[in-house]
Amino acid sequence: MRTRSFNRRVPLLNMSLSQQEDSCAASWLEQADEAREENSARNALHQHIARHWQTPWAASFMGGRAALFAVIRTLGLQPGDRIVVPAFTCQCVANAITFNGIEISFADIEINTFGMSARALKQAITPRTRAVLIQYSFGLVCRDIEQLIAVARENHLWVIEDCAHATGGKWQGQLLGRLGDIAFFSSERSKIVNTIHGGWVITANPQLGERLMMVYDQAPEADNLFITALLQTLRAAYGELHNRPFSPAVALIPQMQPAELAGMFTPQYSWRMAEPVAELLLLQLEKLDTFVQKRVEGASFWQDWASRQGIEPLLSREGAQNTWLRYPVMLSASQKTQRRELEELLNIEIGVWFTTPVHPQPLTLPDCPVGMAAARCCVNLPTWLWDD
Ligand SMILES: *Cc1c(COP(=O)(O)O)cnc(C)c1O
Repeated sequence: MRTRSFNRRVPLLNMSLSQQEDSCAASWLEQADEAREENSARNALHQHIARHWQTPWAASFMGGRAALFAVIRTLGLQPGDRIVVPAFTCQCVANAITFNGIEISFADIEINTFGMSARALKQAITPRTRAVLIQYSFGLVCRDIEQLIAVARENHLWVIEDCAHATGGKWQGQLLGRLGDIAFFSSERSKIVNTIHGGWVITANPQLGERLMMVYDQAPEADNLFITALLQTLRAAYGELHNRPFSPAVALIPQMQPAELAGMFTPQYSWRMAEPVAELLLLQLEKLDTFVQKRVEGASFWQDWASRQGIEPLLSREGAQNTWLRYPVMLSASQKTQRRELEELLNIEIGVWFTTPVHPQPLTLPDCPVGMAAARCCVNLPTWLWDD
């Protein structure tokens, strides 16, 4: 394999933090804790989101997982109700659902965009099914997007859009997150915008909107120590990217806590977004178009590379504006486990989303062969390739 090599190793995690966010975090760390109880950044954030996504209702939470947790509450589902989820997702999605007593039915994916297959959705619906979660894996508009929504409508299911990878993406001119009934987004540090942890929910359905506001009003404030650790984690992440080492005074926040990896509830799932995080998110969202543009350019680089390697191209449907959070490639199972060689060759860090249908939790789903194959063979290339 031949390719243009990069001057320095391209990291996989989000690289969008600038001096602006670092200074913002630094100034919050110097302020008294009481300042964190204000609402001005949160209000401004909600207004920005409502304007950007052209929707009356927006609410922010302390993670994409917390946003999905709020979505489930907003839908008012009952224990024993079921949600259909693609067989190629991550554990925090499953947790946010099961922590509410709701059961998951897995539907297989297709290999063209790693989205749910409409045929598999039809087969997965039972009398207890109330909703379907449409996930835009890697920021790609699903191959079956129209049929998925049509099948959901025929069966009177709520359509939840998981836009964790797809902030800023569009389908036929319409922003993702506005195609179904309710949607959630993430600003976790591996996503398009980065506040270390963060997420938000939008809906244009008045009934759901009113309920979302109730859920938000009842959501507790995040623990102060968590916010301090988050701000320091952000400063450390910025310092690492820009050779400005920052020595944190507290333990940095991991992407997943050990307890949630063990399937146990953690308070983060119930928290509303903290005021300092809302200010950071607003700074990031104001630059969203540039961030997406960079990733589109990165994906186009990999598209050319893939075609030179004889790798089957991904399906980008006419009318899809993908955000290309990562560029997924199917290798052989042994190549996936030996991806270090490819990392050396290309001078990039390579991701493994997802390694099981509910990454990283082991799960075998014989009825979902495509999701199982993707878990074995899919690697993901970073799309933020050049710094200005
Ligand atoms: C990251 C992610 C989430 C949850 O977002 P967090 O902010 O990390 O809680 C949901 N769905 C998918 C597909 C994700 O990759």
